[in-house]
Amino acid sequence: MELQLLKGVGPKTEEIFRRLGIHSAEELLFYFPTDYLLYPPLRAVSELREGETEAVYASLLGDARLFRGNGLVTLTVSAGDLSGRLFLRWFHSPFLKKRLRAGEGFVFYGRVSRFRGRLFMEQPKLFSREEYKKMQGVPEPVYPKSAGLSGQTIRKAVRAALLSFSENPSPLHAFDFVPETLRRRRDLPGLYESLSAVHCPGSEEEALLARERFSYEELLLFSLALLRRKRERSGERSRFLLTERGEAEHFLHSLPFSLTEGQREAIREIEGELSGGFVMNRLLQGDVGSGKTVVAFYALFLAASSGFQAAMMAPTELLARQHYEKLREILKKLSLPWEAALLTGSLSRGEKRELCRRIEEGELRLILGTHALFQEGIHYPALSLVVTDEQQRFGVLQRKAFSEKGSRPHILLLSATPIPRTLSLLLYQDMQVSRIPGRPAERLPVKNALIGAGERGKAWRFLAGECRKGRQAYIICPMIEDNGEPELQNVSEYQRKLRAFLPKDFRIEGLHGRMRAEEKERIMESFLRREIDILVSTTVVEVGVDVPNASVILIENAERFGLAQLHQLRGRVGRSSLQSYCILLDCKNSKKSRERLSVLVRSNDGFWIAEEDLRLRGPGELFGIRQSGALQFRFADIYRDKELWKEVSRDAAEILEEDPGLSEKRNEKLQKRLFDFEGAGEVL
Ligand code: ADP
Ligand code: MG
Repeated sequence: MELQLLKGVGPKTEEIFRRLGIHSAEELLFYFPTDYLLYPPLRAVSELREGETEAVYASLLGDARLFRGNGLVTLTVSAGDLSGRLFLRWFHSPFLKKRLRAGEGFVFYGRVSRFRGRLFMEQPKLFSREEYKKMQGVPEPVYPKSAGLSGQTIRKAVRAALLSFSENPSPLHAFDFVPETLRRRRDLPGLYESLSAVHCPGSEEEALLARERFSYEELLLFSLALLRRKRERSGERSRFLLTERGEAEHFLHSLPFSLTEGQREAIREIEGELSGGFVMNRLLQGDVGSGKTVVAFYALFLAASSGFQAAMMAPTELLARQHYEKLREILKKLSLPWEAALLTGSLSRGEKRELCRRIEEGELRLILGTHALFQEGIHYPALSLVVTDEQQRFGVLQRKAFSEKGSRPHILLLSATPIPRTLSLLLYQDMQVSRIPGRPAERLPVKNALIGAGERGKAWRFLAGECRKGRQAYIICPMIEDNGEPELQNVSEYQRKLRAFLPKDFRIEGLHGRMRAEEKERIMESFLRREIDILVSTTVVEVGVDVPNASVILIENAERFGLAQLHQLRGRVGRSSLQSYCILLDCKNSKKSRERLSVLVRSNDGFWIAEEDLRLRGPGELFGIRQSGALQFRFADIYRDKELWKEVSRDAAEILEEDPGLSEKRNEKLQKRLFDFEGAGEVL
């Protein structure tokens, strides 16, 4: 059905929808909200909390007044109830003046702030008490922001679309790809019903129920795609037999430490597969600091000594460069004839062209880099192995197959995602898994502390003391510079404060993602060479960075980070036999944030932390459809939907068991949808 046939959708709105890829009323219904707004209960003025979005019923203490100046039209009025006073302000809304008369009462809904001791609400929404009552308890969908379309317009159009299909939903059948038997078995609501509940839920529960159906769909496609890929791959012959161990053995013997049992076992498994004649698809899992890099390098060396090319991809330029430098050092030390290359986005065009030529001519065997490794126009004539470091950062839905690069290289993924084992089995259904349990034995466990802002000075003195002993420290701030959120620490100001606090001879530098690549490199290198005592950084150092002499990390605004992320950050220390320390500074210091952060203080075990993280994500987060990090599905949440996923995965296996090609009539729509899903590269 055409969009223009919907009430309230004119040619202009239609055009914007078109640009979003929405061409019909049917498609519009699959434009899903990313979140819901729940109108909160009314509070008294004295109960309003700064920084929160709240609703208050108050009467106007005078007529609203209009000011014009500085290109702004400002409308202000004060209002109050028995408990206190509140100032309200709107910009560019002169039309409201008529309604805002002394003595009138309204519900004001907006973000509460404080300025010069007064409570403010800026640009609050305005409702009568009756209107507000009606909206309470009914979640309002929030759609992704897009230029030229207000949430209101989208909501109206979607509602009109729902209405137009209410009599006859048959045009939607084409989109209903879940086989009927499964829908019944899992008791999933029908498609029209679910769409209607996602867009206009009558209650929280309704929205949740509908979400479950779409999570099911999403996980079903994902599982089917993985299972199919696994089938396709099993027994796939490889033309790359990596059997020459000479230099790789050499490399192991040259290490200044002996391998842990876990590393040895992983190496055995990987080597067995690489020399076995079939294509390897393997995930290497191990907590931060367990020593995955050595294992990966061993595989790279096997490839190179066998006369082939191998590539290793890292999620950040910083990490790619670190691997590159390490590898170069090893090559030099072992006097190997091969050259390693670094390919990242910050190369100049000329440099890139030259590198590509040398890769294409097979001159370069070991190629490290960011995802720039796999952009258009780079051809690897003998790419036998691709290693992806910190795979979890690349996203579940972007598990890249490199078949288009050369002919089916072996794949090795490294991951520290501390996710529960049951989940990783589902998430990596298509992979073989090697695990490195524990860390090298000589390591002392990191000592942890959780402190409040009042103890910052003490923490700084502690860092200084460690530096005096010849160690180095990281301080992590969430922001790069001041952006008007005074409660968040930022790298640039922090350095100034720290310099003023510590004696002049302390060498303090800053690092963040907006610096130029050479600048970042220069700083990381001098940190590694111990020319910097304290590195004040954003989370650019979160993954992989390895400076064994750094023994303390202080994390500011720890309350702002997820547990998994904090665990990764903590992994920057404790990478040698030195006693290391992690200090979490909690600026919020609420009971909830303390409870959450104390999980980290109690344990250094990523898998245990993951389980606790799961337990602590209460139903409070049920509405957060959007997710942070790389475990990104649109509806499903791999933690919350763990049970659902197990069921889905059984269903997927059953479907393929009965109809491997999905060619039977009952699977017709599923086949088509899966084809699109795979084709869109959602699971690559
Ligand atoms: P991750 O698993 O987090 O990638 P790395 O591979 O970066 O960990 O290793 C962390 C540090 O431990 C590195 O400095 C590395 O040289 C060192 N390391 C690796 N294996 C061992 C070992 N068996 N004994 C001692 N140190 C090791
Ligand atoms: Mg690593």
